[in-house]
Amino acid sequence: MKSSRLLSILLALLLLTGCTRPAPSADAKVSASASADESPNETILFAMDTVMKLTVYGDESLLTAAEARITELENKLSVTDENSEIYAVNHNGSGSLSEDTADLLGKALELCHRTRGALDLSIYPVVRAWGFTTGEYRVPGDDELSKLLIHVDYTKIAFDEKAGQVSLEPDMEIDLGSVAKGYTGDQLVSLFRQAGVTSALVNLGGNIQALGGKPDGSPWRIAVQNPLGDGYIGVLDVVDQAVITSGGYERYFEEDGQTYWHIIDPATGAPARSGLISVTVVGDSGLLCDGLSTALFVKGYEDAVDFWREAGGFEMVLVLEDGQIALTEGLEGQFSPADPSAEEVLVIRHD
Ligand code: ADP
Ligand code: MG
Repeated sequence: MKSSRLLSILLALLLLTGCTRPAPSADAKVSASASADESPNETILFAMDTVMKLTVYGDESLLTAAEARITELENKLSVTDENSEIYAVNHNGSGSLSEDTADLLGKALELCHRTRGALDLSIYPVVRAWGFTTGEYRVPGDDELSKLLIHVDYTKIAFDEKAGQVSLEPDMEIDLGSVAKGYTGDQLVSLFRQAGVTSALVNLGGNIQALGGKPDGSPWRIAVQNPLGDGYIGVLDVVDQAVITSGGYERYFEEDGQTYWHIIDPATGAPARSGLISVTVVGDSGLLCDGLSTALFVKGYEDAVDFWREAGGFEMVLVLEDGQIALTEGLEGQFSPADPSAEEVLVIRHD
């Protein structure tokens, strides 16, 4: 991992801690249901190639259970771990999947269809050619990309969900990296909810999912990072929602004055230059928000707005290359800009 990326994740975590720290409490006693004066149980860990922070108002053992669940999912879904299910499928051309992996693959393929291939799980060989999987960055030539793009087509992933069987065409490889953290967040929230927790915050490297609000009933305050510099562009008040950002600043390299980032336009095989530099999607499902944040980054402003108007079921904050912030009308009362005197925030409406 690039040290600048690790640093920015740590900074984001610090920021988040600042925004979400509860009022100091003299009594650190913790019970399954949250009350306004208790301290949370927290842990910070490194998994899925990112820094994660879990905050739970509930029994400490829930953190151990959550960490075990993260490890279990990472072991199944990782594209680089030689023992994972996805690795096996990529290297054998087919394979049978566990319930988790089949569930995620089915839902992710549905998102590929809904976004008409802006999200494409078979983009992996192209991502690798740019060096994003290893950190050995390079700019592939046009010929190399054209050859790789022949095998990028999610409609050719043959998946029998009932049987849990998937098979790929020769030279195809799949990667669930664009949706795995959102799915994991959903799993952790449901694990906590089933244990009776009513207040928790799951931060998977900037993918944030809230269970309930804070113990005092007020919303969680989630900072949306500034994709053009330090700090954040604003704060979102959320209860029971996921807030997931895809940005050009998350993983990138520079060569000959050009910046190349890790979100690829499947139509060209190159980093998506749609005019957007960050897309934050807010909604009930982490999986949906994660998949859409990647796909709408590829689609660009106009197509993202059309998609939101037609599909609904989520809200979004877009940052354009010139720094203009735009948000959908459902977030109007939820978003406070960091700098209220800065250029006006554009509100995207349904009509
Ligand atoms: P992050 O995981 O860094 O938060 P995203 O959720 O946007 O960011 O996922 C980006 C990852 O998804 C990339 O690292 C790459 O592995 C993969 N990817 C890049 N472009 C696409 C795409 N168009 N469709 C599906 N996966 C993609
Ligand atoms: Mg994503």
